[in-house]
Amino acid sequence: MPELPEVETTRRGLVPLLLNQRIAGALVRNHAMRLPVPRALPQLLAGATIRGISRRGKYLLFDCAQAGGQTGTLILHLGMSGRLWVVDQATPAEKHDHFDLALENGTVVRLRDPRRFGLVLWHKGDPLRHKLLVAIGPEPFSSEFDGDWLYRITRHRAAAIKLVIMDSHVVAGVGNIYANEALFRSGINPLSQARRIGNARCALLAQHIRETLDDAIVAGGSSLRDYVGSDGMAGNFQSQFSVYGREGEPCPRCGARIHHVQQGQRATYYCPGCQKR
Ligand SMILES: [Zn+2]
Repeated sequence: MPELPEVETTRRGLVPLLLNQRIAGALVRNHAMRLPVPRALPQLLAGATIRGISRRGKYLLFDCAQAGGQTGTLILHLGMSGRLWVVDQATPAEKHDHFDLALENGTVVRLRDPRRFGLVLWHKGDPLRHKLLVAIGPEPFSSEFDGDWLYRITRHRAAAIKLVIMDSHVVAGVGNIYANEALFRSGINPLSQARRIGNARCALLAQHIRETLDDAIVAGGSSLRDYVGSDGMAGNFQSQFSVYGREGEPCPRCGARIHHVQQGQRATYYCPGCQKR
């Protein structure tokens, strides 16, 4: 599943190709995504210039403007299995290629999404006010997200800390892999009740959430060209996992065996030696 670092790596890969380019047209091959793709979308996009590509959580926001002054945002979400591919016009579409954004310069950005949990939407006005985006918590790299925020928001939460940091109302875009890794780096047991994590440990966790995501983005940055249009994770971060997917292997810090449990139907990996309740 594409997580925040993959979405950010995709965004950075698209910016130099798309910024200030005019859209020739858009093609919707399948309207049945997680929400229906708006029927008017090709009409709204044709002729518009892409003024910027930003990200909120795992949503990509394409800021579009028509010569006549009308503006709006193309909102894309990659869902469970979505990928964006940069191809040329002659590349034949495959079975799960549901949406094409074609530029006047001949470049085509193609959304492939076998499971169709992704989204292709249009929003007039401030995209951050869109109903899917408005309640998302602070971006992990914003100044709003820090130890104090994490401390305040966890005080009355009896749920496990791992589930709380994966809640997008608490912080945007921390998925399963990065929650596991950030908790290991912070020495916090993922099963601990959120409200029992003290101020100092909240500060450490906020810092490690940022660092883990940033390391993954940096690792992805070295293979950007491969990424927009390839399978797999952002770059080589996979080889840097300390605990994720390493059940039974020795902890890189203390040598104890990594444990595996299920939490909220997601796999949790941790070192019982290093990660304290
Ligand atoms: Zn350990």
